[in-house]
Amino acid sequence: MAIKSKRALSSTVRTSYDLYINGQWHSPHASERMECHSPLTQELLTTVPESDDADVDAAVQAASKAQPGWANLSAKKRQAVLEAAADALVAQLEPLALLETANTGKPLRESRANVFTAADRLRYYAGACRVFEGVVVPVTPDITSYGLRQPLGVVGIIGAWNFPLNMFVGKIAPALASGNTVVYKPADTTPVTTLEIAALFGSIFPPGVINVITGSGAGTGAAMVAHPGIRKISITGSTRTGQRVMAAAGATLKRLTLELGGKNAQVVYPDADLDRAAQGILLGAFLNQGQVCTAGSRIYAHASVADALKEKILALVPNLNIGDPFDANTRMGSLSSRAHFDRVSDYIATGVREGGRIICGGHPVRVEQYPKGLFMAPTLFEGVDPQARIAREEIFGPVATFDSWDDEDAMFAQVNAVEQGLAAGVWTGSLTRAHRASRAIQTGRVWVNCYNLYPSGAAFGGSKASGFGREDAFETLLDFTEVKNVIVDASETARGFYA
Ligand code: NAD
Repeated sequence: MAIKSKRALSSTVRTSYDLYINGQWHSPHASERMECHSPLTQELLTTVPESDDADVDAAVQAASKAQPGWANLSAKKRQAVLEAAADALVAQLEPLALLETANTGKPLRESRANVFTAADRLRYYAGACRVFEGVVVPVTPDITSYGLRQPLGVVGIIGAWNFPLNMFVGKIAPALASGNTVVYKPADTTPVTTLEIAALFGSIFPPGVINVITGSGAGTGAAMVAHPGIRKISITGSTRTGQRVMAAAGATLKRLTLELGGKNAQVVYPDADLDRAAQGILLGAFLNQGQVCTAGSRIYAHASVADALKEKILALVPNLNIGDPFDANTRMGSLSSRAHFDRVSDYIATGVREGGRIICGGHPVRVEQYPKGLFMAPTLFEGVDPQARIAREEIFGPVATFDSWDDEDAMFAQVNAVEQGLAAGVWTGSLTRAHRASRAIQTGRVWVNCYNLYPSGAAFGGSKASGFGREDAFETLLDFTEVKNVIVDASETARGFYA
């Protein structure tokens, strides 16, 4: 397909959306709407409702009504529905990927990969929900205790803007597989594929099982957290938002999964394969324009290899191909919104003010097809003070720092000095070092000789200020259920306590 027609296809974004509740488009009670702008042209892309309390309640009511029926389906039937949903996603690969790129500015090749990841999550949980087991305790020959694992009920799920498509599908899949129904709110700026997929799934799932409402965090998101009919909130967002949600969730004692921000390190040992490390480090730092919670934005190379590694990294930077995200050769597209672009630009200016030296990038890039696009060159700093803001705060853009070390314990201390603890990369040829570093680094995920891989079944989540709870894995299913203990006395006569 010619690139031009791909762009035309991406303009099939509807000019406005309603909510998706109870298996159909639903006119909002709220009259206010939020505008979503194209990151490529800054033009108005679409508008979505700023859902109010009544809209949140309508979604919760629909989900509550649907929940017993959905939970009472056999796991085999739920498996079949989830697999059908995965097939439907893959069948719509191209239109969905185009919409995702139009709304986020990310390269089309990444949007396509995101559709496959999303479909794989559905397939993984479709199978996993068949293998739930409960513990049976034979208390006496007559008395048996067993654990009945049951869904929580209605769960509220709130997404971030950086991977809207596979975040929606990946987060709802375990909730649905374990028999819950869902009220989902996408991020304010990137709701398009979530709403389209909700409608696509409308003919696959029973009405009310998946409900999508839109709106701001402070309004709609907070109303979800406060709603007494929602039993759990699973949210992906910044650490600040996680703190707010956790404080508010106490009022209704909601369970929580908090997938929050990161300030992640990539550590290079002297025995690393430097060519492989250089490629992996770039992928770690600049995938999705660095707008990844796990972005490996602090590079620590052993002093004996630091110069050689830096040279290899700088030699690869031109291959990152910043440009039209709809072009198959593009590896870096546009940042996601004007506000975020300004924030990243501020961080770069702050890094310079704080004494950091820019060794590549540090400036916007003009892309001919999209003169108003938000393209930022991949940026590397060196000589950054560990106390500088760019060394401690999540930038969430294509900005990384390069540093060297010679004492392993001091390096671990520096890696762990940030408040967050999401992910890390370790590049080494030694298994001993790989295991030692993996134990010493305080994060929920460590990649060894790879980066930014998210296979289904591998538990993903943070520690420290990066949150808690694990996603993408079997234990996620458990987090969406609770165990009811049942004790059965099968003896023929009463126990006679009061006889
Ligand atoms: P954000 O915290 O601003 O918003 C995330 C979501 O929470 C949005 O839908 C927003 O509307 C909602 N929200 C905001 N305040 C709320 C409140 N008080 N109550 C309820 N909902 C509220 O984050 P963002 O800018 O959309 O995304 C970027 C952040 O997400 C980064 O910090 C990034 O690291 C993090 N993130 C984490 C992961 C992970 O898996 N750990 C993955 C992707 C992104």
